Amino acid sequence: SRTMAKSKFEYVRNFEVDDTCLRNCYIVVRLDGRNFHKFSEQHKFTKPNDNRALGLMARSARSVMEELEDIIIAYGQSDEFSFVFKRTSNWFKRRASKLMTHVASQFSSSYVFYWKEFFGEQPLLYPPGFDGRVVLYPSNRNLKDYLSWRQADCHINNLYNTVFWTLVQKGELTTVQAEERLKGTLAADKNEILFSEFDLNYNNEAAIHRKGTTLIWEKHDETVTKQIKGVNDERKDVHVTRSKKIVQAYHCDIIGEEFWQQHSNILED
Ligand code: ATP
Ligand code: ATP
Ligand code: MG
Ligand code: MG
Ligand code: MG
Ligand code: MG
Ligand code: MG
Repeated sequence: SRTMAKSKFEYVRNFEVDDTCLRNCYIVVRLDGRNFHKFSEQHKFTKPNDNRALGLMARSARSVMEELEDIIIAYGQSDEFSFVFKRTSNWFKRRASKLMTHVASQFSSSYVFYWKEFFGEQPLLYPPGFDGRVVLYPSNRNLKDYLSWRQADCHINNLYNTVFWTLVQKGELTTVQAEERLKGTLAADKNEILFSEFDLNYNNEAAIHRKGTTLIWEKHDETVTKQIKGVNDERKDVHVTRSKKIVQAYHCDIIGEEFWQQHSNILED
């Protein structure tokens, strides 16, 4: 405020450090739920994948994209979501702490705000929190590799969790026994356990669980009816189609080039 601005206390502002993100880089903010191992147990998440929780994460991420500026793509799995700001963004003068805290708080408040839409009458037992970090990627290759890294992490964890919980839920092993059984196994071994012992083909598991959720902006035609005044003041209904940008969710592979070729407008040169 005006009174503070000119006071002798003003010098304390100089203790603030410059955290401007390097120009020309993609700014990635990754959030991760705090202690969601416990949170998921206390809120009775189904194992290995609770679709209500995944839906709420994606809904909160959409709120972040719609309410904040310059986010071109977001990717989420488990209790984490990554948000990518376009490389030319000048939002909050690229100050890392401003961007990160806006993402984290918008996401957290949305998670609570939309809880009921996904969990119905099941109460939210305590206020959840999310940590955030900022990472800069200077090239398209680096950014794609970052997103590939997160999707590979989703795959590795989901394959493990799928076999683990199948052994517990259908194979009647204890969690300790299931963990023992999976020690040292490779991906091929895990696929084989599912296939030969439980008649499950991992590739037929839901794409949202295997691939996570990718959110991008897409043009969407919207037709609205407008009343206009014609000649002699007569009212006329006209249908106006306008193109609106909406957030679209995908549960597809983003490691290969196909996704990037089909959505070549996302990344800048
Ligand atoms: P920014 O996003 O840049 O912070 P802002 O609109 O939040 O924009 P601030 O300088 O933070 O700007 O000012 C907060 C404003 O919120 C105040 O100017 C005041 O109008 C309003 N406000 C906050 N708390 C109260 C309150 N308890 N009672 C009435 N008004 C309030
Ligand atoms: P930290 O605070 O260090 O992040 P954490 O307990 O959140 O600790 P993570 O490595 O982030 O640890 O793991 C998140 C955990 O949340 C997963 O291991 C899983 O148990 C649980 N979880 C998150 N989302 C879901 C979901 N949709 N369905 C079931 N469980 C989930
Ligand atoms: Mg203020
Ligand atoms: Mg963690
Ligand atoms: Mg976590
Ligand atoms: Mg996590
Ligand atoms: Mg304010």
